[in-house]
Amino acid sequence: MNTSTRAVKQNTATRPTVLIVGGGLAGLAAAENLAAKSRNHFEIQLLEAKRTTGGRAGSFLDNRTGGTVDYCQHVAMGCCTNFLGLLERQGLDGYLHRYTRLKFLHPDYSESTFKPSRWLPAPFHLLPALAGLRFLNRTQRRQIKYALFRLFRQASSELDDAVAGAWLRANGQDETTINDFWSVIVVSALGESIERVSLAAARKVFVDGFAAARGASDVLVPKLPLIKLIGGHLAEAIEQQGVDIKTGQVVRKIAHDGKFALISTADGVTHHADHVVVAVPWHAVGDLLPDGTLKHVDRFTDAPSSPISGLHLWFDRQITDLPHAVMVGTMAQWVFRQPWVDEQAAEGFYYQVVISASQSARRLSRPQLIEQVIAELRHAFPLARKAKLLESKVVTDPKSVFSISPQFEAIRPSARTAQPWLHLAGDWISTGWPATMESAVISGGMAASSILASEFGQKEGLNSGLPRNWLTRLLIKP
Ligand SMILES: Cc1cc2nc3c(=O)[nH]c(=O)nc-3n(C[C@H](O)[C@H](O)[C@H](O)COP(=O)(O)OP(=O)(O)OC[C@H]3O[C@@H](n4cnc5c(N)ncnc54)[C@H](O)[C@@H]3O)c2cc1C
Repeated sequence: MNTSTRAVKQNTATRPTVLIVGGGLAGLAAAENLAAKSRNHFEIQLLEAKRTTGGRAGSFLDNRTGGTVDYCQHVAMGCCTNFLGLLERQGLDGYLHRYTRLKFLHPDYSESTFKPSRWLPAPFHLLPALAGLRFLNRTQRRQIKYALFRLFRQASSELDDAVAGAWLRANGQDETTINDFWSVIVVSALGESIERVSLAAARKVFVDGFAAARGASDVLVPKLPLIKLIGGHLAEAIEQQGVDIKTGQVVRKIAHDGKFALISTADGVTHHADHVVVAVPWHAVGDLLPDGTLKHVDRFTDAPSSPISGLHLWFDRQITDLPHAVMVGTMAQWVFRQPWVDEQAAEGFYYQVVISASQSARRLSRPQLIEQVIAELRHAFPLARKAKLLESKVVTDPKSVFSISPQFEAIRPSARTAQPWLHLAGDWISTGWPATMESAVISGGMAASSILASEFGQKEGLNSGLPRNWLTRLLIKP
């Protein structure tokens, strides 16, 4: 566009202005945190490229059935205290179902229930849960306890370049134990194969997600489509805190004129701001900033990603009344029954199968993939044998999550950059968490703290998870 026709939004605000680029959970959390912590000291605007906020935690309207469906079912765990805290502060935590036990289905064994004790102290609360996994024999359970203990005794800072798969083999885990236990949990929590994920990330899952506290492994499933929960209720609550959220605003470039940050959008407007929070995914950040603004930026842009596939299936009848189940030893990894009931009957009975690190699923044609997964569901659920598949859709985001290798861990940046006006947010920055809603929300808090530190020199700690008892403090290194 010709510069003479370009609209310029001068900074006429009486308060310092903050512009957030990206309305995923990270950008929304940055806005919420900053508005609350600074008690409206800043004028905050958020620009989101798409028509709704929520980013990867989003939904689509399926034309054939007319139903609203999440691109991919999202679950949180009890250990996700920052994500849950955000919803709680906005009165939205009631929109989550909490499950304290998990069903595991292995094709060669009867159904298993993973049910941590509600009275044994952590980490011993996991012992009955492990005993409930019928597809593991006594030797395998012993192997798992040994490796868990070794993980507890190694601080995450000591794990540097270690990869989970190699470490597990070196620590006495046989291939069946790796495939049926470690891999099942690691792949669904980290979205990446055990042969590539950093041991530090895998340790985070087993320590914080299971061992550190009772309730850490509870599974929380939204009762509403994500577009209503995050893009709707959460975004509206944040607007009520005084944040100006604008959707359909594609930011093209961010620069600085020595006084203000200049943020140019695709429709030719240039916004001025005192601070900018860049809350876009790791692979998009390099395009927005002038060369040399951010260290390692090429390495983020080119960093490997991992795909996650959601298979959306509509049957003519119910195939199981389980709300969800983990599937072991099959292409299908999780199956979810539609958690909101209102739209179900008219369109058929909706189920979603999730396949993380879905490279091998993507090598099959769509009909082959559907056929294989339906065969697995028929094996797992007798009711599925008579059910007719009415509709199906496969949705894969090839860049669902960054691949959490030791190399990626080493370059994850802080929210604070070398420029006092520029701050980062996103599940990919150095939150200590894998690519999750929890990581995105933590990153938003980090960006808000970075702005406060830049303006007032104020430093603040983050909510660091569920409280630990004396036993876990003694047994598990930080
Ligand atoms: C298939 C799938 C399944 C998942 N399952 C789970 C799960 O079960 N549990 C869990 O905790 N996490 C899960 N995740 C991960 C979770 O969705 C992400 O970690 C989280 O949503 C990331 O939030 P974010 O704000 O960092 O990034 P994003 O959600 O990617 O948000 C970035 C936003 O920036 C916007 N943007 C980009 N460029 C521009 C621009 N130039 N101008 C303006 N706006 C821009 C984008 O449109 C987007 O809205 C899953 C992810 C996927 C893809």
